[in-house]
Amino acid sequence: METFESERAPLPRNMIENSMFEEEPDVVDLAKESPSYPIDSDDAVYEPRSSRLLVRGLGENDLDEDEEDYESSARLLGMSFMNRSSNQRGVASSYTRQQYSGSCSKPSTKTTVVGVLILVLVASMIMVVYFLPGCTFTRKGCKKSNSTMDSIYPISTSGELFPWTELRLPPSVHPVHYNISLHPNLTFMTFQGSVSILVQVLHETKNIVLHSSDLNISKVSFDGKEVHVLEYKPLQQIAIKFPEDLKKGQYVLNIDYTAKLSNSYDGFYNSSYVDTNGTKRVLAATQFEPLAARKAFPCFDEPALKSTFTIKMTRERKYISLSNMPKVKTTDLKNGLQEDEFKESVTMSTYLVAFIVAEFIGVSNNVSNTTVSVYAVPDKKDQVQYALNTSCKLLEFYNAFFDNVYPLSKLDLVAIPDFLAGAMENWGLITFRETTLLVGSNSSSIDKQLVTSVIAHELAHQWFGNLVTMSWWNDLWLNEGFATYMQYMSIETVFPDLDMDTEFLKVRFEALAKDALNSSHPVSTVVSTPEQVEEMFDAVSYEKGASILLMLNATLTDGEFRKGVIEYLQKYNLSNTESEDLWNSLSQVSKQNLNVSEMMNTWTVHKGFPLVTVERKGTLVTLTQEHFLLNAENSTDDSLWHIPLTYVNDSCSFLSSCKQVFHLKDKTATLMLPDQVKWLKFNFRSDGFYIVHYDDEGWKNLIDALKKDVNVLSCKDRAALINNIFALSRSGKVSFREVLNLMEYIRSETDTAPLTEALFQLGQIFRLLDKRSDFDLASRMTSYIDQHFGNLMTNQSWDLESSVSKMTLRSALLEMACSLNIGNCPTQAKHLFDQWLTSNKTSQIPSDLMRTVFRVAAQTDEGWGTLLDTYKTSINDQEKRKTLDGLASTQDLRKIIWILHNSLDGSEIQTQEFPLVINTICKNFAGYLYAWDFLKENWDKITQKFPVGSFAIRSIIMSATSQFSTKTHLTETQNFFSSLGTKGSQMRIVQEAIETIKLNMRWMEKNLNTLQIFL
Ligand SMILES: [Zn+2]
Repeated sequence: METFESERAPLPRNMIENSMFEEEPDVVDLAKESPSYPIDSDDAVYEPRSSRLLVRGLGENDLDEDEEDYESSARLLGMSFMNRSSNQRGVASSYTRQQYSGSCSKPSTKTTVVGVLILVLVASMIMVVYFLPGCTFTRKGCKKSNSTMDSIYPISTSGELFPWTELRLPPSVHPVHYNISLHPNLTFMTFQGSVSILVQVLHETKNIVLHSSDLNISKVSFDGKEVHVLEYKPLQQIAIKFPEDLKKGQYVLNIDYTAKLSNSYDGFYNSSYVDTNGTKRVLAATQFEPLAARKAFPCFDEPALKSTFTIKMTRERKYISLSNMPKVKTTDLKNGLQEDEFKESVTMSTYLVAFIVAEFIGVSNNVSNTTVSVYAVPDKKDQVQYALNTSCKLLEFYNAFFDNVYPLSKLDLVAIPDFLAGAMENWGLITFRETTLLVGSNSSSIDKQLVTSVIAHELAHQWFGNLVTMSWWNDLWLNEGFATYMQYMSIETVFPDLDMDTEFLKVRFEALAKDALNSSHPVSTVVSTPEQVEEMFDAVSYEKGASILLMLNATLTDGEFRKGVIEYLQKYNLSNTESEDLWNSLSQVSKQNLNVSEMMNTWTVHKGFPLVTVERKGTLVTLTQEHFLLNAENSTDDSLWHIPLTYVNDSCSFLSSCKQVFHLKDKTATLMLPDQVKWLKFNFRSDGFYIVHYDDEGWKNLIDALKKDVNVLSCKDRAALINNIFALSRSGKVSFREVLNLMEYIRSETDTAPLTEALFQLGQIFRLLDKRSDFDLASRMTSYIDQHFGNLMTNQSWDLESSVSKMTLRSALLEMACSLNIGNCPTQAKHLFDQWLTSNKTSQIPSDLMRTVFRVAAQTDEGWGTLLDTYKTSINDQEKRKTLDGLASTQDLRKIIWILHNSLDGSEIQTQEFPLVINTICKNFAGYLYAWDFLKENWDKITQKFPVGSFAIRSIIMSATSQFSTKTHLTETQNFFSSLGTKGSQMRIVQEAIETIKLNMRWMEKNLNTLQIFL
């Protein structure tokens, strides 16, 4: 699966208690109300309750006055929301067993000492039973106190004991083949299903346990005889109990059921769109990874329980149906319906099964023995050709690279109008967002870069993930890290113009930022709850996974990496693996006798990554490694990594041939240098997953060398120096003064990678200063950025551009320039927008500049209204997202409120875009506190749409909280999340959010003086 988070994870560091937050104006609860924002008219229809809020919060001001300072009003509003909401939720009721027991016993006020002792004894006994491995209780469980061992079993929905207690299914029964018949009704949004599972009993057992979720089971038969089924909803399991042991052998289990097509984005779900004639169209599609196949059919829903599948789909004639395998026949049924039957599948995991019923049309082409097709809604049939050509080229590349031809006779790529993830690699039927598959005639190379990237990722999964699958979700990185690495590697080879090298460097920086937090986790992590499975789809599995594979490939020589991969794929064809299996295959081909397993385990078993400190005395260099944590206080971590340390020096520093390697396995080691070496740069091109700190002299020599000639180092090395010194500053190892010293060279910089990294880092600091209302420092930061980047900003062209690298750079520069009002950027953007309007949207705004132009345009009522019309009518999804980004960047609180409500309920704005809306709103002062309030008030609704632990929820939480920096905000964030119980308090992202706020507070405390003196 490809997650869809297009923005760098914010790593702010704000602080400073804002005394204004201590005051609490009396306000009504706007976040609970769904406002009807008058899109076409102005103040006349403004909602009374909102007006009341405005009056009370702002002291009789009316936001609808043109002259109103919306921004300052919003600031006041935001502050009042902040105070009020801190009192709204209690701290109690988190999801712990103790608290369930607590709710059942209310201690008497007249308890005697003896009574207390008895209670303690009884409580102890209950706790013993309670914490027996695998013990789970229903919500009513604590009322049914059983004293026998049976009580460790949970209670099924019928009140009988359920015979299984674990998240993982018992090992005694495996599926062999599924026959699945489905009939979705797209009028009533329901479906009927029938599944016949051929099972193999491996060990004698009295129970068969499998998964089922939200299915109404009407009939179950086992080997032709009707049987009784038990359901235990918390674990999404059903079970059949037998009076006698089932003997080893094969049996057939039949289950008939009905269900609703899901309204969220997983399982068998309904989706809709409005075509260009204004007619609403509906469709049904699936998204099963990781745990939702069980929502479409009862199954053994674990990645290692592979099986074959035969699928039949009943549909109305106007629809087509698609599944993993090619269709073998269509049968006419009564009532004018038709049934499609698909060929028996290859052996695969349940999470890869997929089917779609929709009015799509497709185009096809052949590669080797595979028919590749791209499907979309009919209105967008002109946007599929790029994806078809690209996927054919990439399929050819992978067939050759893996020396293992794609095994199916067809491969469909389908753009789904409402889809949450970026894409999903279902075998033979890959599903995408429209943005990540369709390319319109006005799309730029940057738009193509995104589409190519996602296709390359999903195609790589057809081998890594589909053909060879991780045994359990703890090793998800084997799927995702590999697919991410292959996406960069394949595109660099097949589409070198797309500049994926720079993109991959950015991705490594993202991974380092996430992994430097205490709340991070090892690449291979134990997962024992469904939420933890969802949480594995994160930067560590994807981006760190890809980064450590790059480091390994850069360490191996002579194509050993590819040889090892080929061997691994052949050896584990159609089966499941763990990390160790991959390392062993790579160790076997290594000619330098590198123990790959020993080296790579240090990168997958520990969380985080090392900081290497370089200290030089004459010709002697001392290298020290330690776990790099942004907050290392009280850390006793003595993890050691096997680091394939690379370095160059002043005599030869640019070319790959200059690279020298030293394997640092111990805490410290020394290197002897020749006398004449002036300076050293470690981690050549940032291919290694670690950061480097030099002694004062080391930094000074590097900075002096760059000031003389930036080309002494490659652009990736320069970008890495910038990235590393900002990270060191966040951790408190260097002061911001030293960051500014390095940044002095930036005026001579012209390359995309270092400039975009510098802009990103400075932009983060600016936003934090802005959010704490420190206008003086924020404006000094603006001047600093103007002084260092102003010339480049002014010199950017606003014409069509074809180089991806130039587009990436100019869009970063101009986005920053326009948002900070630097130079003539806003005027130019406005000019381009006006031209576009007067030409009736036929003149082209360069696609990479659209976001900048729309953000400027959205600040007027007229511009915002035009963008909303464009959003509603555009049939180009990439343009649509940029329009939405513009809409959400408005400073007008009424519009912000409208957009939040409408994107969450999906009425005017697709719900899939809610995370984008939150992210964009939170970048600006006007709405970020309101967005946080909205999030709290609507948490239940949000988690009905986006699963707890999912990347969408994580993105929403980080967008809303990562710019907090006060103690008040910290306490409030802690209180809110601890009040959530099963709805989210256990999420790792909550720890990350809290840690980030603490880091923000600390950073400002340490660096505020420096900022005041040197900015
Ligand atoms: Zn993936």
